[in-house]
Amino acid sequence: MSILILADHHDGQLSSATAQVVAAAQQVQASTGGEIHVLVAGEGVAAVAEAAARLDGVAQVRLADHAVYAHQLAEPLGALIHELASDYTHVLSCSSTTGKNVLPRVAALRDVSQLSEIISVESADTFQRPIYAGNAIATVKSDDALKVITVRASAFDAVGSRQDPGDNASIEAVDFVADSAQSAFIKEALAESDRPELGSARVVISGGRGMGSSENFTLLDGIADTLGAAIGASRAAVDAGFVPNDMQVGQTGKIVAPELYIAVGISGAIQHLAGMKDSKVIVAINKDEEAPIFQVADYGLVADLFQALPELEQRLG
Ligand code: FAD
Repeated sequence: MSILILADHHDGQLSSATAQVVAAAQQVQASTGGEIHVLVAGEGVAAVAEAAARLDGVAQVRLADHAVYAHQLAEPLGALIHELASDYTHVLSCSSTTGKNVLPRVAALRDVSQLSEIISVESADTFQRPIYAGNAIATVKSDDALKVITVRASAFDAVGSRQDPGDNASIEAVDFVADSAQSAFIKEALAESDRPELGSARVVISGGRGMGSSENFTLLDGIADTLGAAIGASRAAVDAGFVPNDMQVGQTGKIVAPELYIAVGISGAIQHLAGMKDSKVIVAINKDEEAPIFQVADYGLVADLFQALPELEQRLG
């Protein structure tokens, strides 16, 4: 029996998280054997399927290319995976917005319990996942015949890509067309940004309540541009209206694990730490030397951010 991964993709691009989910699937495969298949569902997504076929460890790509899957709605995607699931022991997805929307529906349709946001694979049926905002790690075991699992992609190192196109996985078309009556796509409003995506950026610089206003947040722009960083924020900064809520990092925001995370004017509440403490190197700038952020920071600067940021930008520039 094999493992099925729901590919995460946007604008015709396979997201890097899918390669990380393949790495998690390989750890399951080490106990179960079988093959790793990737399901690419969407409309006009042949290029995504080709990208998935290049990933190391993937034996087959199943391509469901139809208008009904165009907007990644949970109802048709859930029905599609339900239709395919009897060929598999595990269905995995990254815990992106789409994964978190679709997989619970698959679990319900198959009458099994979902395992959410695993961070390690202990065996084919036992996994670790964070609970209490990452303050405890639960080891969970599932006896369900089908394991439906979302994966915290940042906890796994992405698999590489095959160099020789002759080695690529086969791409097989899936004919099943899900019923489209249950939900309809109305519109999407996208935040425009030339910066890297927060969830997958190598460097993130985040501002907190200490930034004081949305105008002051522009102090982060030059540094972010120089470092190729995404800009994040604490919930207090979002709640104060300094920045939109898609920039929030933390328990109820995005979970990030970049190589470098710079926290500016952020106190380091546990709910914020839950979203960034797995970053490789953490730098904190805060004028309060007692701020809890310094307990997780690799480098701390006790300074007024309004002096430190322009200085940092100048030195980087
Ligand atoms: P504060 O705690 O007010 O800290 C501001 C910091 O800025 C202080 O340390 C201060 O010393 C420093 N500062 C001020 N002025 C300057 C200056 N001029 N120079 C340098 N430093 C300065 N929070 C999140 O971030 N993400 C979440 O996802 C999240 N989810 C939550 C979920 C729940 C259920 C709850 C209850 C809370 C959640 N929170 C979340 C909120 C969290 O508890 C904190 O309230 C929040 O993280 C605080 O944000 P902050 O650090 O920006 O603000």
